[in-house]
Amino acid sequence: MNKRDRKLGMDADISRRDFLNGVSVAIGASLLATTSHAVDVGKQDLRGYYPPERSGMRGSHPGSFEVAHRARDGVRWDAEDLPERYDLVVVGGGISGLSAAYFYQQAADPGARILVLDNHDDFGGHAKRNEFEIDGRLMLGYGGTQSLEAPSSYPDVAKKLIRDLGIDTQRFYTAFDRKLYGSLGLSRATFFDKATFGADHLAVGNLSNPDVLKNVPVSDKGKADLVRLLADEKHYLDDMPEKERLAYLESTDYVRYLKERGNFGDEVINIVQSSGRGLWAIGIDALPAKAAWSSGFPGFADLELDTPSYRREREEPYIFHFPDGNASVARLLVRKMIPAVAPGDSMEDIVTAKFDYSKLDHHENAVRIRLNSTVVRARHIDDDLRNPVHVTYVRDGNAKRVTADRVVMACYHAIVPHLCPEMPSDQRKRLANALRAPLVYTNVLIRNWTSFAKLGIQRVNCPGGYHHGVSLDFPVSLGDYECPKDPSEPMILHLTRVPIFPGLSAKDQFAASKGELLATSFETFERNIREQLGRVLGGGGFDPARDIAGITVNRWPHGYAYGYDPETDRVAFEPSQWPEEKRYWRAASKRFGNISMASTDAASNAMTESAIEEAHRAVKDLM
Ligand SMILES: Cc1cc2nc3c(=O)[nH]c(=O)nc-3n(C[C@H](O)[C@H](O)[C@H](O)COP(=O)(O)OP(=O)(O)OC[C@H]3O[C@@H](n4cnc5c(N)ncnc54)[C@H](O)[C@@H]3O)c2cc1C
Repeated sequence: MNKRDRKLGMDADISRRDFLNGVSVAIGASLLATTSHAVDVGKQDLRGYYPPERSGMRGSHPGSFEVAHRARDGVRWDAEDLPERYDLVVVGGGISGLSAAYFYQQAADPGARILVLDNHDDFGGHAKRNEFEIDGRLMLGYGGTQSLEAPSSYPDVAKKLIRDLGIDTQRFYTAFDRKLYGSLGLSRATFFDKATFGADHLAVGNLSNPDVLKNVPVSDKGKADLVRLLADEKHYLDDMPEKERLAYLESTDYVRYLKERGNFGDEVINIVQSSGRGLWAIGIDALPAKAAWSSGFPGFADLELDTPSYRREREEPYIFHFPDGNASVARLLVRKMIPAVAPGDSMEDIVTAKFDYSKLDHHENAVRIRLNSTVVRARHIDDDLRNPVHVTYVRDGNAKRVTADRVVMACYHAIVPHLCPEMPSDQRKRLANALRAPLVYTNVLIRNWTSFAKLGIQRVNCPGGYHHGVSLDFPVSLGDYECPKDPSEPMILHLTRVPIFPGLSAKDQFAASKGELLATSFETFERNIREQLGRVLGGGGFDPARDIAGITVNRWPHGYAYGYDPETDRVAFEPSQWPEEKRYWRAASKRFGNISMASTDAASNAMTESAIEEAHRAVKDLM
């Protein structure tokens, strides 16, 4: 280990383990990392199997995706027949798959035998719980699906499910402490990094404020332009007839709009570059200006277009957040269907409930959840679409086959043509159009957040950083869980990374990003995290070697669901506004014999309410 790595704390004793083919693999320099995490991935029925406490590379963790990629590449398996027959097999244990199991139980029979198969070592899909422990204290983070967004506008089936699970959205108005960070004088900040802007500088406060801008490493013209953009007092389409504006904004990316119409230079573009990454998981050079307009990005002032705007629909505060994100929704679903898995019956006690994973796949359960199990084939017996379906999955390297009267595919649609090659070719083509935008949610446990207090910051935008966003966790206390309120307490930092490849189309950026995420080691993530936090927070006394107590990287090569039109090479960022004939995801999701299609791919909309609504529709299709 070189001196620089040692200074960053690459040899520090934090847990950083990956799990590969059933063997725990220590990553990075420390072989002293805690051994309590060393559980084989396939042994879900053994005591001590508790994936939320695993750290290191999570999300699509090593061991979760390789089999599916081999199935995609044409590998076939000879399966052992298991004497197991189910009313329903659900492929994918995310919120959509779990909801499908629940809706089926309700629609068919509470005793219906249901098997949920998922390739990950935990259920929930993107709704992933990350646990840390420090000095005997439980710290919770979310590794994916963050919050219920605007739940009052949810479709009725999703509202009802949320209610059935005992979630009272009003409760978040007191659980989420919206005053905490303000009361400590913490505000937003921007970190200008040397590689992008010529010097490291942390600008605390709103960049439209001249005092905040004073020492920012940007030219005077760049500062004046930035102030003009953020003031957002005018749009730049005055000389364009009103009826042409919508089509122009749909066919122009946000960067081009800012440059060509607003005359903004590269300095400003570099600063606002990350604005589309958190919300859309894409760089703004590949984001249609129309989507930027509807998200409320600056540069459009009060421009009216003859189309509904995303921003106007979102009037509820962004507070509907469990400490582990929507993993609590997944856990509530699982506990409802398999009560033996954990005690309790409320949205409060679910937060700290310890799940007994050995109960998930018990033979006496009506609903069974089998993890580490990648489905590689689903075929109607004798290819007769009225017959039951043989479902083959691979677990621990062994292929097994079960029989299902019905199947819901609540997985990524792009894999379905490889699982069901008998499907009509036009349906397979449409399923293959389902794109996923990759992204990374990293949780970093720090021993205290006095550096944030000293610097007066709570959330830092890092336009040129490895992670483009760093923020203190949402201050939510629910049930027995108390969020940190004093800077001397430990804290989870939430970091977001969306790799971008300016110049490529959105589809090609997603492909390049996926490749990058799968090829990047945990060690590279860790080094970048330590270096970035050291530079951003160093002025507040932060020392990465001393202050970092744990790191969990949740990488999602298959992240946000987007439909795609191969004829125009356009991505459906705003699916509800696409012409009906271009909504390929609808025809792609039609029932095939006894197999139906759920998941957010079926709506081209990466939202929890769509995951639930499509599960409901998929079950209805089968009944
Ligand atoms: C980082 C991130 C943050 C997000 N934040 C929010 C948010 O704040 N609010 C919101 O509403 N939505 C958010 N989303 C969108 C999220 O995708 C949905 O809300 C929802 O959780 C998706 O559920 P799903 O079941 O459709 O898909 P997934 O969660 O992707 O579940 C599908 C499951 O099927 C599995 N699978 C795939 N192929 C196979 C196979 N062959 N065999 C077995 N299993 C298979 C997958 O691995 C996965 O576990 C976020 C997504 C990401 C990635």
